[in-house]
Amino acid sequence: MKHATPQVLIIGAGLAGLACARHLTNAGLACTVLEASDGIGGRVRTDRAEGFQLDRGFQVFLTGYPEARKALNYATLNLMPFYPGALIRYAGRFHVMSDLLRRPQDLLQTLVSPIGSLTDKLRMLQVRRDALRQHLCSEMTDPARPTREVLRDYQFSDAMITRFFKPFLSGVFLEAELSTPCWIFELVWAAFCRGATAVPRDGMGAIAQQLASSLPPGTVRLNHAVQKIQESSVLLESGERLTTHALVIATDDVTASRLQGKHVPGTSARGSMTLYFDAPVAPQRGPWLMLNGEGDGVVRTVCVLSEAAPSYAPPGRALISVTTTDQIEAHSDGPQAVRLFLQSWFGSQVNGWRHLRTDHIHHALPPIDLLSPGNRTASPRVTAGLYLCGDYRESGTLDGALLSGRKSAEAVLTDCDLL
Ligand SMILES: Cc1cc2nc3c(=O)[nH]c(=O)nc-3n(C[C@H](O)[C@H](O)[C@H](O)COP(=O)(O)OP(=O)(O)OC[C@H]3O[C@@H](n4cnc5c(N)ncnc54)[C@H](O)[C@@H]3O)c2cc1C
Repeated sequence: MKHATPQVLIIGAGLAGLACARHLTNAGLACTVLEASDGIGGRVRTDRAEGFQLDRGFQVFLTGYPEARKALNYATLNLMPFYPGALIRYAGRFHVMSDLLRRPQDLLQTLVSPIGSLTDKLRMLQVRRDALRQHLCSEMTDPARPTREVLRDYQFSDAMITRFFKPFLSGVFLEAELSTPCWIFELVWAAFCRGATAVPRDGMGAIAQQLASSLPPGTVRLNHAVQKIQESSVLLESGERLTTHALVIATDDVTASRLQGKHVPGTSARGSMTLYFDAPVAPQRGPWLMLNGEGDGVVRTVCVLSEAAPSYAPPGRALISVTTTDQIEAHSDGPQAVRLFLQSWFGSQVNGWRHLRTDHIHHALPPIDLLSPGNRTASPRVTAGLYLCGDYRESGTLDGALLSGRKSAEAVLTDCDLL
């Protein structure tokens, strides 16, 4: 079938590609988004099964993300917040670690918990203030330094780092060494402090759906995998060739390299494993994120998603998401290993949990070495007519994907003299 030549072709309908398409469309440019898979959203998709909403891997949305605040309509996402803080499992029980400015009712419990000293809790307020003022890296240190060094600069105790920061940040950055550059820690920590941690009522995939909803019908073509790019044309796996005035590659970093005919780097992307369980009752009431503060075991975080967003489970059921540590790989039966581990948290009720699905995502976040502070000023333009966007071009977050999509659209518009 022949299509009219579009002005801009975008490869990939993840958040970056959709954000790019929306900016270009709003500026009056015709664009077509070619998506290899059968749906939009890339790494942010939600499936529905038996009345449950299952995001492809546990993830959360931070309403304090700066670009997301501009790009998304929060009201129509119907964001369902978690409590600002976490329950930390340590020494046989849960301990509250709340953001004291937003849950003052947890003040006493947070201050006396064995998750770090009283001084550590006061230092948390200092980190909060410095992150919000963007002083966390720039004043103290080089923005490329690993997060663990910055936490040492703040003189947090080993207990605080092992029992709180490691489980919390390894769930966010999907790496256990706290190697993530501190400019990203600053950005993400500020977002945690500035707004809520939430999921949209209709699942994380609703973020992509909202971006796509303003595009003219037919803009996104699903099941259209691009095999090759050649100057001003792209060759689809179907054999179809499309020509264009401007091409935006909005894929993950590995595919972007391959499509440009560059050396494809080894797999240092960060992976994630989420197990979903259906339970007759929530093992913990309230929208809490529960963290393993013991520094050992197969479980990293547990969250009863239906306590934050009842729409995630059918009436009368609870949806539990469990993310795992690398230790799960030693077990042939993942769901059973998780149940065995969580018996010590919740007792024998875990034997009644029904395993719904395991999402093992090998390329959840881009390799850390791609997340240079220079990303913030790097141009998305490879040559006039060829542009790049994707989370790996910024902070490796949802927000980074949205920002990179906008920046690539602005570069296209500048080259077309339309900005
Ligand atoms: C389990 C998990 C947990 C996460 N947790 C968080 C979190 O809590 N907070 C946060 O901010 N971020 C989180 N992230 C990261 C966030 O989801 C990503 O940063 C963001 O979605 C990346 O968007 P993107 O558009 O850059 O890339 P992608 O979403 O990867 O989109 C690229 C698109 O390109 C398509 N594509 C690839 N190759 C081709 C081809 N040859 N032809 C056509 N199309 C192609 C893909 O199918 C895909 O749709 C998480 C990610 C995962 C997987």
